[in-house]
Amino acid sequence: MAKVIAITNQKGGVGKTTTAINLGASLAANDLRVLLVDFDPQGNSTSGLGIDKNPQNPTIYHALLDGLPMERVLIITECEGFQIAPADKNLVGANLDLVDVPDREYRLKLALGPVLDQFDYVLIDCPPALDLLTLNALVAADSVLIPIQCEFFALEGISQLIDTIDKVRESFGHPLKIEGILLTMYDDRTNLTRQVADDLKDFFPDEVLSTVIPRTIRLAEAPSYGKPILMYDPRSRGAESYIKLAKEILANEQRQRQNAQSAR
Ligand code: ATP
Ligand code: MG
Repeated sequence: MAKVIAITNQKGGVGKTTTAINLGASLAANDLRVLLVDFDPQGNSTSGLGIDKNPQNPTIYHALLDGLPMERVLIITECEGFQIAPADKNLVGANLDLVDVPDREYRLKLALGPVLDQFDYVLIDCPPALDLLTLNALVAADSVLIPIQCEFFALEGISQLIDTIDKVRESFGHPLKIEGILLTMYDDRTNLTRQVADDLKDFFPDEVLSTVIPRTIRLAEAPSYGKPILMYDPRSRGAESYIKLAKEILANEQRQRQNAQSAR
């Protein structure tokens, strides 16, 4: 049964999609079966993995609103074990179209249900908004991974995101966990980056992951070739950092499992 991780931050351009693509590819490189759900109408995960946005092709929108079985939406990527449920700009209508639908916050969870045992990990690339799409992602997820760019306003908005996570826990009786806070586009030559990172660690000592993603041009270039960094430049610092992130997330999960077992 897959573990579902929503990659979310309502702030735009913080590295959600870059993390979704490259964490996904790194988990798949560990012989895990991974599904990336592109849940952003911008469809950046879809194009970043080299998938054509042909209007004829079924997308996550059809699974969400037309009852199309999820299996019909999935596309195999160039990386072994890594599949994607693509999105295109039509998904922008979902926020309105969902309003009158029964179980509107549960549509993604319901759509994913039948394919969960085909994967070890499902990653959801969320849009930069706390909208009905993101709510669907949070309800469908076991945990949230929050990429944060180390810049002056980084902390603003995080409390709003944490409030939303708390609300999902309360209103939906859903034990949503925080997978971690991931520092992205990290440049330790600047005082500001170091200072913001220190502040985040003070505020969230248990949540900030020890892996940080450096700012590198190779990570920014890879999507224009339709490839994860592991295929575009496997020896780069960017590739190394995402491999390290996958290992950290796998190790955390193993530790949680052991703790749960010893508590029994
Ligand atoms: P949106 O909120 O619009 O969906 P996002 O949070 O998904 O944005 P990305 O698309 O992953 O953010 O990244 C924003 C931009 O920064 C992109 O052009 C991406 O290539 C670039 N970028 C992301 N991570 C890095 C990095 N570590 N080093 C350099 N550039 C990066
Ligand atoms: Mg994105």
